[in-house]
Amino acid sequence: MPSSIENIRWTLASPMERQFFCAGAPRPMPFRDGIVDRRGRRIDYARISVTDRCNYRCIYCMPPEGVPPLSHDDIMRYEDILWLAGILSELGVKKTRFTGGEPLVRRGMAGFLKDFRDVFPEMALSVTTNASLVAQNARALAQVPRLGMNISLDTLDPDKFREMTRGGDIMDVMSGIAAARDIGISPIKINAVPILGFNDSELPRIIEFAWDNGIVPRFIEFMPLCHGVWTRERFMGSGEILRVLREKMGEWALVSPCASADGDVPSGPARYYSNAASGLTAGIIEAVSNHFCSRCNRLRITSSGGMRSCLFNGAETPLFDVVKSRDTASAKREILRGIDAKPLSWNDVRNGRGHMSGIGG
Ligand code: SAM
Ligand code: SF4
Repeated sequence: MPSSIENIRWTLASPMERQFFCAGAPRPMPFRDGIVDRRGRRIDYARISVTDRCNYRCIYCMPPEGVPPLSHDDIMRYEDILWLAGILSELGVKKTRFTGGEPLVRRGMAGFLKDFRDVFPEMALSVTTNASLVAQNARALAQVPRLGMNISLDTLDPDKFREMTRGGDIMDVMSGIAAARDIGISPIKINAVPILGFNDSELPRIIEFAWDNGIVPRFIEFMPLCHGVWTRERFMGSGEILRVLREKMGEWALVSPCASADGDVPSGPARYYSNAASGLTAGIIEAVSNHFCSRCNRLRITSSGGMRSCLFNGAETPLFDVVKSRDTASAKREILRGIDAKPLSWNDVRNGRGHMSGIGG
């Protein structure tokens, strides 16, 4: 009886790739459709952080005093990121998401997205943002064709929002959401982190707000990354989230595990549920209670060029120097080496958490 790892490998691999596995090659291999790691996972999605800085200090993401910022000399320039994206594209990466910190606090970010789209017309492109600076960047963002946007919004109550973000004004986010819709950004998703005793009673309201605006709502399980904030008592797993949604909004049925209504890759982390009363969907990202390591298709790159093959693995593969030297062969070798260190499960690592703002979420 093959092990579950073997099952995953054989399910995902093409005939040519199976030959490779039969040959027993011990390391990840780049294929046209993505890098296939030794566990058979196809890595075709890069999340690149463009800055560790942020205009908010969300309680679940950062300590109150913020995180000491990296020096400008230590972060990749836009042309470095474009070069690295070219290498990743050659290795089969098909989807890039830019994140932060808050990506739009970095000067020139909207223009960079346009440059990125020009250089990589085929790449699926999206940005994760708190949306507070979207309205003021709307004109430039409108020039970026086929841009998706994930917007973080954990509460609709202005006072709670200020508390959650340690000073943010929810009206900036509302203007950002309106601007994103006006300029035709699609898809737009709202990501909320449910926290018991804070926003748990608001989940149906957040869903209704998203639906009213033609947006897909998703809940991300609160991950224990920022020390001193996460406690088991505040954690809401997907079971508890669904219980609240069923109590307040009637029946929900799983649409299909890990497939979204809006073109998310099948290996995406969200499970989508359809509400019987409205026929509309909402997603839950079970990052903690039912983590998706066996089908994880992503790699993360920090603004200083550290590649994390797993969110929970603090051991980064440093790419900054190979990027700066434009050394294609070394960059590919180091990326493959980093992917080889991708754990099968976050249970195997959990050694280096850090703040989500530095890793990119
Ligand atoms: N500033 C942008 C934003 O807030 O969307 C992008 C960076 S933020 C680190 C990316 C995502 O990580 C956000 O959706 C945020 O809610 C999520 N996040 C941060 N800390 C988290 C935690 N401890 N558990 C779950 N999600 C978290
Ligand atoms: Fe900033 Fe995003 Fe972290 Fe909030 S979640 S502090 S907006 S990086």
